[in-house]
Amino acid sequence: MRLIMLGAPGAGKGTQAKRAAAHLGVPHISTGDIFRANIKEGTELGRKAKEYMDAGALVPDELVCDLVADRISKEDCAKGFILDGFPRTIPQAEALDRALENLGTSIDYAVDIDVPDEAIISRMGGRRACVGCGATYHIKFNPPKQEGVCDTCGKDLILRDDDKPETVKTRLGVYHEQTQPLIDFYSAKGVLVTVDGTQGMDDVFAEIVSKIGA
Ligand code: ADP
Ligand code: ADP
Ligand code: ZN
Repeated sequence: MRLIMLGAPGAGKGTQAKRAAAHLGVPHISTGDIFRANIKEGTELGRKAKEYMDAGALVPDELVCDLVADRISKEDCAKGFILDGFPRTIPQAEALDRALENLGTSIDYAVDIDVPDEAIISRMGGRRACVGCGATYHIKFNPPKQEGVCDTCGKDLILRDDDKPETVKTRLGVYHEQTQPLIDFYSAKGVLVTVDGTQGMDDVFAEIVSKIGA
């Protein structure tokens, strides 16, 4: 199954994408994770992306489209994949269509996790990310066993720089302007599925599984 996760920053795309990937046995591909890994490794791509990410802006399409096209053509994506955080603009969605066409395939579903802005702002302040493995927690809704320590790898949990309230507001503005139009784009293709992202994580997951028939 080939899935796209849509939704505002903090809607729960990563949380649900990881579960769905495990459930379906396909890779979870997060462009945000790829950029953060590149920043950590000090690559040229990381250096370029960081500038935009810190400002709450989108990384330019030309830095992300080829990277994803390349990733989904890998052997482990032959049976499907879950894209988390890509596409985020109409040109990215068109580039994805071309890449899939070259592979002789197409998207099965674009899952929009719907959460109103007010809920996003309060949710993001509680997100904590592991500096080691990138695992995501929430201080209230998904706390680690030991405060500030990753359950999986034992490294420190931090508040991402771009999760500070001012940057979250900028990112929400960017989302409404550049990413929300994708909802109509995928609706027109007949592959859009909308789920209520204000429910608890287990209920959101159950709604996704039932709506995509997985
Ligand atoms: P979130 O999960 O909170 O929505 P991500 O980890 O997906 O955040 O993305 C973090 C940042 O990485 C974005 O604010 C943006 O700067 C950059 N980014 C990630 N994916 C893309 C993309 N497809 N196009 C442009 N920028 C991206
Ligand atoms: P995204 O990838 O869309 O930016 P995340 O999956 O990282 O979103 O979730 C954002 C934050 O909200 C994280 O701290 C996560 O633990 C928490 N979270 C995710 N889904 C829910 C939910 N249904 N209810 C409450 N908190 C949630
Ligand atoms: Zn970790």
